Amino acid sequence: MTSQIASELKPRLSPTAGIFGPGDEEFTGLISRWREYHAPTVAAVVQVATEGDIQEAVRYANQNGIPFFARSGGHGGTEAMALAQDALQIDFRKMNYVNVAEDGQTAKIGGGANVKEVVDALTEAGKRTVTGICESVGISAVVLGGGHGWLQGQYGLGADQIVSARLILPNGEAVTVSEDSHPDLFWAIRGAGHNFGLVAEWTFRLYDLNPRASKWSYEIFVYSGDKLEALFNLHNEMQKSQPAHAIHWCYIIRPAFLNLDHPVIWYGIVYDGPEDEARLYAKPLHDIEAMSIQAGVATTHELAALTFQDVDGPGCAYGLTSLRYPIGLKTFDVPAVRKLYDFIDKSFQETPELAGSFFVLEGYSTQAVKAVDEKSTAFPHRSDEILVTSYVQYKPDPRIDPLAEKYGKTLRQILLDASDDPEHLRAYVNYAHGDEDLREVYGWEDWRLQKLRELKAKWDPENKMRYYVPIV
Ligand SMILES: Cc1cc2nc3c(=O)[nH]c(=O)nc-3n(C[C@H](O)[C@H](O)[C@H](O)COP(=O)(O)OP(=O)(O)OC[C@H]3O[C@@H](n4cnc5c(N)ncnc54)[C@H](O)[C@@H]3O)c2cc1C
Repeated sequence: MTSQIASELKPRLSPTAGIFGPGDEEFTGLISRWREYHAPTVAAVVQVATEGDIQEAVRYANQNGIPFFARSGGHGGTEAMALAQDALQIDFRKMNYVNVAEDGQTAKIGGGANVKEVVDALTEAGKRTVTGICESVGISAVVLGGGHGWLQGQYGLGADQIVSARLILPNGEAVTVSEDSHPDLFWAIRGAGHNFGLVAEWTFRLYDLNPRASKWSYEIFVYSGDKLEALFNLHNEMQKSQPAHAIHWCYIIRPAFLNLDHPVIWYGIVYDGPEDEARLYAKPLHDIEAMSIQAGVATTHELAALTFQDVDGPGCAYGLTSLRYPIGLKTFDVPAVRKLYDFIDKSFQETPELAGSFFVLEGYSTQAVKAVDEKSTAFPHRSDEILVTSYVQYKPDPRIDPLAEKYGKTLRQILLDASDDPEHLRAYVNYAHGDEDLREVYGWEDWRLQKLRELKAKWDPENKMRYYVPIV
């Protein structure tokens, strides 16, 4: 099948495009994933280099009844991906350019750029915008699902930075989407975008680098489990007046190299401002006795490394079974966080294979996210304050899978039961496991799914794009 695809599709592509199959040395790397569990199977990888290549790949797949899906950073992981069998993987990584406009207001960004490439190129140009944090994650999927990042409190979600996109529809046609051109699609690709088309290029809104601080200021506290109540009560207090330029970032982890009996609480303040201001902001955290405190300033890349999310960091590593079970919260129910911590501790003792897992509690600032009308994009969770998920990570091992699933689901349930609305889970699509109800992912208001289904019937009537939390 691969050689047939290669011989038939290659002549239709630009000279720098490539096609790879299982016999090629590059193939294993090209199909590697952050979550190997329930991954798609791939007949061939087509590495596209131009918008026209994407169109040809999509048309070829449709003409031959071959499922197709996009890969940029390879960090997507949701159950529906496994439905893509013997698929054509459209690899976007060659389309990773970042071109800043002469007036510095916008940038054209290739659909295959990853977070690091975007951050590096913009920083070089004295600019920034809202990206994800893990450096290897593709910028496209981040935006398609909404896009959380360090700067969201000041500028809104990643999706809120999009001026327009060049989109290849599931039938291979190329269109520009923006407020003025196919506004219905523009609405849909900012929150439910995986269902509607392949992005060749984004036009992103840019901002100047912070003139008050050339680097991020940070302070990282590592607390033992017995400080949990004091810490999360304090978090809830600080959240009430959290400024747009301060982020609270937290892990419950048991790093192997520390040889600990119990998990620790890694709690960081990330601050877009001068160091003395950051120290003042983080001061109340000093009243709780920490095992260690580390403070300093960091570039965005160094910040990624400090939070284990750089290209070489454990959070971003490829090749593991990595399961996520997200939940959005308004505030922390402290007894529930205690129950959660104890369950993590017990699970790590009982199943040491799980002990490399991260439990992530993301306390981004939200001012500019909330300032955007909730109805104006397909992203439904603007009123959440905290984004929480497990990263249940371990070397692929089918014996562990049922335990890992139970572990992740139990942790989410503990938080849901004690949340502001236990009947209505809110799950970020980009972290979704894929077992969620569609309303939990795309929003509980009836009109949202109804609108998405109508748009799906209009733009993808044959449901070609159904491998990422599919609406249909
Ligand atoms: C360690 C880690 C850190 C993360 N940090 C953040 C974060 O800070 N903020 C945040 O918002 N999310 C974050 N995420 C979630 C991330 O947005 C999703 O996992 C996303 O799916 C990863 O995109 P990818 O390109 O790396 O993965 P891929 O597997 O390559 O892509 C995932 C899906 O996106 C779609 N897709 C990819 N490229 C294109 C394209 N060019 N056009 C159309 N569709 C495309 C396809 O449906 C594909 O199946 C993180 C995930 C991980 C694992």
